[in-house]
Amino acid sequence: MSPAIARPVAPDDSDERFLAEVRAFLAKELTEDLREAGRQTTGVHTEIAAARAWHTRLYRRGWVAPGWPRAHGGCGWSVRRRFLFEQECARNDAPIIFGTGIRSIGPLIIVAGTPEQKSRFLEPILSGEDLWCQGFSEPGAGSDLAGLSTRAEVNGDSYVVTGRKIWTTGAHLANRMFALVRTGRGEKQQEGITFLLIDMASAGISVRPVITIDGEHEFNEVVFEGVRVPIANRVGAENQGWTMAKQLMRFARSNNTTSGSLRRAWRLLEREVARCQPGPDFALRMAETGIALTAMEALELRLLAAGRLDGEDDTASSLMKTSATELHQKIAELAFEACGPLAQGLECGPNGTMQPSLATRKYFATRAATIYSGTSEIHRNIMARQLSR
Ligand SMILES: Cc1cc2nc3c(=O)[nH]c(=O)nc-3n(C[C@H](O)[C@H](O)[C@H](O)COP(=O)(O)OP(=O)(O)OC[C@H]3O[C@@H](n4cnc5c(N)ncnc54)[C@H](O)[C@@H]3O)c2cc1C
Repeated sequence: MSPAIARPVAPDDSDERFLAEVRAFLAKELTEDLREAGRQTTGVHTEIAAARAWHTRLYRRGWVAPGWPRAHGGCGWSVRRRFLFEQECARNDAPIIFGTGIRSIGPLIIVAGTPEQKSRFLEPILSGEDLWCQGFSEPGAGSDLAGLSTRAEVNGDSYVVTGRKIWTTGAHLANRMFALVRTGRGEKQQEGITFLLIDMASAGISVRPVITIDGEHEFNEVVFEGVRVPIANRVGAENQGWTMAKQLMRFARSNNTTSGSLRRAWRLLEREVARCQPGPDFALRMAETGIALTAMEALELRLLAAGRLDGEDDTASSLMKTSATELHQKIAELAFEACGPLAQGLECGPNGTMQPSLATRKYFATRAATIYSGTSEIHRNIMARQLSR
């Protein structure tokens, strides 16, 4: 077996001091229980208590928002440092924070929020006091998101929102939601959509769990019955929410599926191989996948360095999203296969309950990766449109 093939991009001399600082921080703050929670992560974030604890430690160190500008409490790091930091966290099994605020709505508020929205919402995102969920998809509007029908009507100084959202990750954990609502009709479906920031404690909101194929409760259905949302909580102009959503999705795609999450999956694969000792043929397939992972890391670094994941380049973020999520599934499939019959067994979970093996849960959890943040088919459409121009 040659996991050495899947080595991340080598740091140069000037990065070594930075890495030494990161390693010292991880050695001090990343306790064994947090590492274990990180190792047990199968979905988009670690179990919430550990995710929050890790968020707090990163925040205290000033490292919770590597991609944010310094003026707004971010690290102001170069893309290379962001990459190295993420890789080092992955290599040490750090938990994955519940990061919708840090990864998507925070960056949007920074570029498009009012001064009041910036001063009200950014700091609680950094500190972890506010957790955000994304209310875009509806029962009749997924890939065809512009077909959404949750409506909002102005009444005094508020919008009154009525409708239904679905697949809302973490709606049961979050105290805030950013949502797309219909405020008008235009020639195109994309017109007449408005972007709102909603307090989840508002009267008229109910959250119902949806259990996924891996047995986890990660997402929900959210129902709005006459929910009042202050007009001051609108991001961008009325009926211009689609532009806001497109910008936010670019942030989310480029930040959601980084090679750090792939590196974590790779570590799970290595552990399962060490434990289950699959046959010699497996080594070759693992080596091939390891090469694909190293290539993925190089691609991510190049696109980041060229600024192609933060700007208006839909092709680059679609390329990154499809490549990363499909590789993530491949690594999870290998881990599942490496376990052979052991993958089918039950293991002792929290509070003595029995649960499927980690490799099995990871396998099922990664099925969703090519669906959320736009399916692979939709991203291939985006790339094909660009290429045919
Ligand atoms: C784990 C998970 C978490 C999620 N979290 C959130 C969240 O927090 N907030 C939120 O708003 N949404 C969330 N979603 C929803 C997600 O964005 C949608 O599932 C996704 O956009 C697809 O929409 P859909 O499920 O309605 O499928 P559909 O749009 O009905 O698609 C069904 C199938 O048809 C294909 N298809 C559709 N249109 C085309 C086309 N034009 N060309 C080719 N193929 C096409 C799709 O690729 C797919 O295979 C989450 C989804 C998952 C799985």
